[in-house]
Amino acid sequence: MAIKGFTTTILHSDRSKDIEHGSLHKPIHTSVAFEYKESRKIAEVFQGKASGYTYARQVNPTVTALEEKITAMEGGVATACFSTGMAAITAFLFAMLRSGDHFVASSFLFGNTNSLFNSLKNFGIDVTFVDITDFSQVQAAIRPNTKALFAETIANPCTQIGDLAAIGDFCEAHGIVYLVDNTITSPYVFQPKSVKASMVINSLTKCVGGHGDALGGAITETGLFDWSTFDNLIDTYKTGNPATWGLTQIKKKGLRDTGATLSPQAAHLLALGAETIALRMERSSANAMALASFFEAHPKVNKVYYPGLASHPQHDLAKKHFKTFGFLMSIELQEGVDCFDFLDALELVVVSSNLGDNRTLAIPVAHTIFYEMGPARRAEMGIADGTVRLSIGIEDCDDLLADFSHALAG
Ligand SMILES: *Cc1c(COP(=O)(O)O)cnc(C)c1O
Repeated sequence: MAIKGFTTTILHSDRSKDIEHGSLHKPIHTSVAFEYKESRKIAEVFQGKASGYTYARQVNPTVTALEEKITAMEGGVATACFSTGMAAITAFLFAMLRSGDHFVASSFLFGNTNSLFNSLKNFGIDVTFVDITDFSQVQAAIRPNTKALFAETIANPCTQIGDLAAIGDFCEAHGIVYLVDNTITSPYVFQPKSVKASMVINSLTKCVGGHGDALGGAITETGLFDWSTFDNLIDTYKTGNPATWGLTQIKKKGLRDTGATLSPQAAHLLALGAETIALRMERSSANAMALASFFEAHPKVNKVYYPGLASHPQHDLAKKHFKTFGFLMSIELQEGVDCFDFLDALELVVVSSNLGDNRTLAIPVAHTIFYEMGPARRAEMGIADGTVRLSIGIEDCDDLLADFSHALAG
């Protein structure tokens, strides 16, 4: 049969295999252990000669069903799920880097990812942060011992976008693992495989789940990286399809050994949410576009950061690579407009952290998520005291416009 569309594939993914009792959803399997009637079979599974379920810290049928959906959404070859997005990123670092290695990362990062990368030097791994919007900085940062490069698709909160395709070509030419965090775009809006990403990170907590009711993370192997050239691969894991050797090591060293396992209950909620991701992203992106134009024309708003605006410095890159311009936006209020007064005047929009929820969320970033990194680093990232990050939801657009209009008038 022909390759199906994005939403059709997710909706019918569980049914493509036999499910108990003709159930339409993969059931929530809560068993920690799995019985083998033939003892030789359990040995084969442990030795990697046959596939099967061993112990739920490593594999669980409900989680496997979600992993298959994410692999299809990303156009990849295999996926490993984790308890959170941060656990997924940590698993990569722990499983794939060694003392003496060098790691390059965008300087525009999710705050906790930035904090995590700053810890790498404690383990003898050097990190260089680069302005990802300046490709010459990426080129200049590479050293002979550079093992991996990490970029986000649309940076939070100021929506910077790197030349993801040029970086992909560059990493390929130098044998560097190219990690792309696709959380802010989502696999519906963008497939990092199209810019030669080696591995894709998704925080499933955000718009893949979409309902703000479950934490989860994923790493998807795109199948593009040649692992036979990667020094840090352990020989034991060089079995089966060479395109998945990297993910095999992450599943063993990063998931099994650290225990950052996604629960089957959370996997079920995330799989339900994923069914409607295309519909939700179209709606939230349309709302975001309308709001961005509204804010751009508003006298109390000094700056609007949204890739859909023609005034955005990387608007052309966004138009070239992304299906929509996404749900993330930040506004910088004019000097003299107090961001706390503005936020308190909102009646519908929720003052809260998190991103990619169905509800529109607002947060004063300098005073919260990016507080710990200090004023110097904040200035580098373009974050002012009056910067408010917005995660636009799927409400009726007129209601959002009315709420922001009223709060800015106050
Ligand atoms: C939220 C987020 C993460 C971390 O995900 P959690 O599920 O909260 O651990 C990583 N990267 C980006 C871009 C995020 O927005």
